[in-house]
Order: sequence, then C-alpha cells, then structure tokens
Amino acid sequence: MKIYAVGLGPGSAGLLAPEAEELIAQCDTVAGYTTYLKLFPELFEGKKIIDTGMRGEVERCEAALRAALDGDKVVVVSSGDSGIYGMAGLLMELTEKDEFSSVKIEVIPGITAASAANAILGAPLMNDFAVLSLSDLLTPEDTILRRAQAVAASGLVCVLYNPASRSRRRILDKVISFFVKYREKETPVGVVHNACRTDEKSAVYSLGEFPFNIIDMRTIVIIGNENTVFKNGYMYTRRGYEKYYKLEERG
Ligand code: SAH
Repeated sequence: MKIYAVGLGPGSAGLLAPEAEELIAQCDTVAGYTTYLKLFPELFEGKKIIDTGMRGEVERCEAALRAALDGDKVVVVSSGDSGIYGMAGLLMELTEKDEFSSVKIEVIPGITAASAANAILGAPLMNDFAVLSLSDLLTPEDTILRRAQAVAASGLVCVLYNPASRSRRRILDKVISFFVKYREKETPVGVVHNACRTDEKSAVYSLGEFPFNIIDMRTIVIIGNENTVFKNGYMYTRRGYEKYYKLEERG
C-alpha cells in the first residue's frame, strides 16, 4: 500500500514536475486544499477529491490514508514542495498509528516558494541561508521569536514563509525588529506575492523601509545580509567571486 505526497511547485504549469503530473494523471483520489487544486483544474478533473479545508490537515491526511487502505491510488498534494511545510511529514507521522502502519509514503519533490522567489528577485540565496515560518498555528510564538533572533544575529540571508495573516501581524513586526537591530537599514529585502501565478508581484525594499502593510499569506520575504545587493534590477548575494574577476573602471 502506497500513497504519494506530491508538491505542485509554486503555481505555473511549467514548474510542475513531469513526474508529479504523471502520478496525478494516474491516481483515482486526490487530497488537497482546494486553492491548490484550482491551480491546475484540468489535471484534477474526474478525480475523487478529499478536501477538508485549511485547518483540517490531519483529517484530510487520515482520509487519504484510509482511501489508500481501501485500494485507491491516492495522491496528497501540497503547494511547492510537499516536504517543506507541506503534507509529507504529517503523513509519515500518521503511519506511526497502527491503523496506517502498512501504508508507505513516497515523496515527489516540488519547487518550493523560496526557490521560485529567489529566481524572481535575482539570486539572493547564492550563499548560506535560513528558512523560517512565522505561523504560530503549530509552533509556539516564543520558539519562532527565539529562532528568528538567532538567525538575525547569525548573518544568514533569511527566507520567511507564512509571514503574516490578516489577524497575525505582531510576530512579523517583532521578527523584523530583530533584523533591524543586527543589520544595516539599507539591507535589501525582497518581497514576492503569488510567485509564478497569474497575479505575481515582486519588489525590493530596504530593511529600514520594510513594507509591513503589503505582506500577507501569499507572500514570501527574503531578507538579505551584508553581501546582498540590489543592482540593475537584480537582488543577489555576492558569494566571494570578486577576488577572481576585476570590473572595468567606470568614469
Ligand atoms: N509547501 C510550500 C509552503 C507551504 S507554507 C512550499 O514548498 O512552497 C505556505 C507559505 O508558503 C505561504 O504563506 C507563503 O509564504 C509561501 N508560498 C507558497 N507558495 C507561494 C507562492 N506561489 N508565492 C509566494 N509565496 C508562496
């Protein structure tokens, strides 16, 4: 008995892995949040759909595991990569239960939002970086803040997933204040909404002018470090290659 944890990539058809597409085409049953299924409507046409809404992740994965035990070929879809703030790990946790212990989980990777935003902005993730989710639904606020403070102090470029929702803004305020404390105000910060979807928007700001009011749950934020620049429309992090090349003097 096997179930597939599939990442759909950030949203455009070209960035959906062929292997993921093929597995979806072959399956009978799909479990996933409707917003993600709507990204590729024709792909999910005629499939049995298990959807219990955003906060019903456990229920949805349990229903998917049950369908697999009943003999269905089941795909559980996440946006981006299924193993990065997605469903893959939850499915594995649930196989610790006796009821589901005979089900094997196979993960098909996808292009995660960090990778998509990195490409849209330029190449800010050229060197070491950290990834944080600011959602406190599963991780206590204290833990999020402790990690954010450590990352801010570490000098790592930082990617923020789930940066703020309509009602949860305070964690983002505090996290940005840590970065302001440890980094220059001019540090470039890239903001990407709906990466690789029809209403994609992106811009680069300075840390001192962080655009709090445009950040929502469909946004990914990349905070640069002392080696990150914004030049010729690209945000990128210098990795140290300048010792191997020489720029011409400009008048
Ligand atoms: N498994 C997903 C992440 C799910 S967490 C992945 O690997 O990408 C949900 C968060 O991911 C959102 O709040 C947002 O911060 C980010 N995200 C996912 N897709 C995005 C997209 N297309 N554009 C911008 N941010 C995105």
